[in-house]
Amino acid sequence: MDRGAWRAVVYICRVCRSEGTPEKPLYHPCVCTGSIKFIHQECLVQWLKHSRKEYCELCKHRFLKLCWL
Ligand SMILES: [Zn+2]
Ligand SMILES: [Zn+2]
Repeated sequence: MDRGAWRAVVYICRVCRSEGTPEKPLYHPCVCTGSIKFIHQECLVQWLKHSRKEYCELCKHRFLKLCWL
């Protein structure tokens, strides 16, 4: 990768650190801002299961479970 070249900011999923794709687009389900606001739907579902939380630990925004499951 050419470090000197300007390129558009690439947003990555805050869970798996990979970019969104047409098959796995990135969502921003809470009110966090900046690069950490994006997450894959799959990753969010996994995170919700794993953490047993229903809200974002950063902004405390409640995720609407029905949207994801
Ligand atoms: Zn992800
Ligand atoms: Zn948040």
